[in-house]
Amino acid sequence: MSVHLTFCGGVRTVTGSTHLLSVDSEHVLIDSGLFQGHREDYYKINSQFYFNPAQLDAVVLSHSHIDHSGNLPNLVRNGFRNKVYCTSATKDLCKLMLLDSAKIQEEDIKFVNKINARKGLPLRQPLYSIEDAKGSLKKLRAVAYHKKFKATPHIGCTFYDAGHILGSGNPLFEVGAGRNTIKIAYAVDLGRKDIPLLRDPDNINEADYLIIESTYGGRAHHQIGQAESELAEAINRTIGRGGKVIIPAFALERTQEVVYYLSRLIRGKKIKPIPIYVDSPLACDITDVFLNNTDSFDLQAKEMLKEEADILGVNLIHYIRTADESKKLNFDKRPMIIISTSGMCESGRILHHLRNTIEDARNTIVVVGYMAKNTLGKRIVERFKAVRIFGERFMLKAEVVVINAFSAHADKNDLVEYVLKMKRKPKKIFVVHGDMDQSEALAGNLRDNGLKAYIPRKFETVTLG
Ligand SMILES: [Zn+2]
Ligand SMILES: [Zn+2]
Repeated sequence: MSVHLTFCGGVRTVTGSTHLLSVDSEHVLIDSGLFQGHREDYYKINSQFYFNPAQLDAVVLSHSHIDHSGNLPNLVRNGFRNKVYCTSATKDLCKLMLLDSAKIQEEDIKFVNKINARKGLPLRQPLYSIEDAKGSLKKLRAVAYHKKFKATPHIGCTFYDAGHILGSGNPLFEVGAGRNTIKIAYAVDLGRKDIPLLRDPDNINEADYLIIESTYGGRAHHQIGQAESELAEAINRTIGRGGKVIIPAFALERTQEVVYYLSRLIRGKKIKPIPIYVDSPLACDITDVFLNNTDSFDLQAKEMLKEEADILGVNLIHYIRTADESKKLNFDKRPMIIISTSGMCESGRILHHLRNTIEDARNTIVVVGYMAKNTLGKRIVERFKAVRIFGERFMLKAEVVVINAFSAHADKNDLVEYVLKMKRKPKKIFVVHGDMDQSEALAGNLRDNGLKAYIPRKFETVTLG
C-alpha cells in the first residue's frame, strides 16, 4: 500500500485549503477552498488544479467557510463527478455560502467585463457560475459526527467536532487494516473552548500524522467571556450619548454569536432594550440554518432552548431582508444597534450605514472580526482620520471599539494543548493554514515540546507509512 499526501493549497498562507490524500489509485481531496487575494492571483490560483478533478474519488469537507468549500463549484465545472462528504449543518450552510459566492463571482466579472469592453479587451468568464454552484450542491452527502464512513473502499473517515463554526468537523482518516492501519488527523480549522452555541472541540486520542492549522500559531487571544462585557460597555456608552452602534460582522457565525450575546445582555438587564437590527439577507438565512440545526449546539444553548429562551433573538431583533427597510434606518435617529455585512466593510449594506454614521462622535463602530490589510475595516481599526466610502471622503469621528476576544480559531496555547492531550502523539505534524511567521511560531512551539513539526511547501508530496 502506498499512501501519499500532497499539499495543494492553504500552506504558508491562510486561505485556499486543498489537500490530496492518495492511497494506491484512490484519491480523496480534503477541502476545496478558495484562495482569497488580489483579483489576478485569485483567478490564476483558483483555476489551476494540481490534479485532474475528474479522477478524484471523493471530497471530504471540513466546514462551510469559503476558504475551505469555495472552490467546490469550480471542481464540478472541471469534471468532478463523485460525492462530497460533510456534516449535515455544513451541507445546509453550503447551500447559502456557495450560491452567495457564485453571485459574487458573476457580479465581479460583470464589473471586469465592463472595463474590458471599454478598452477593447477580450471578455472573461467568472471562476464559476450560479449554475456550477447548484451542480456542486447536488454532490453533498451528510454524515454524522463520530460515525465512521468509507470515503473510498480503502479510506475510512470519521468527523470529530472542530468547535469552530456550526457544522465544523475535523476528519480522522484511517487507511489500511489491522496493525498496518495509518491514522491521519486533520485539524483545519480548529475552534476553541466556550464559543457561544458551539460544543468545545473534540480531542483526538491518537494519530500517526496530524495536519494542523496555524492562523494564530504565535498569538494568544483574550478570554472569550470578555467579549460580552466589552460589548456591553461600548453599547452603554453609546446609548448615554444618544448614538448608534454599528457592528460590521461576517454573516456566518459571528453575527449569530453577537446576537446571542445581545439577547443575553438584554435578558440580564445589562443593556437597555434599544432596537437591534441584523441587516443582511445572507445573515438572516444563516440564522434560520442555525435554528434548524440546534442538535449541533452545546449543552448550555440546549438548556436555554428547553426553557424556550429566544437565544437567537428572533422576537427581539429585527431581521432585515429588503433594501428599502435597510435604507429607512438612515432616517431613524434613535439609539440603535445595527449588525451588517460585509465583515471587513469592503462591500454590502454596512457601507451605507458607515457613510451615514461615521462622522458623528456620538456613534460607535464595534469591530468584532478579523480585518485584512487594505480593507476599509482595517483603516477603521487603525483609526485613520479620514476614509473613503463609495469614492467619497468621510472624517472618522465615531468612536471605534475593537473587541479581540471574539475568535473562532484556537490560539497558540490551544493548538499546542490539542496535540499534547493526544495519548499517542503523531510521528509527524504538518503545519498549514497560516502566514509563514505564524506557522513557524507553531512549528517551533511543537518542536520545543519534543514533537516533529514540518511546514510543507505548496504542491509538495510526502509519503506516509
Ligand atoms: Zn474556518
Ligand atoms: Zn480556514
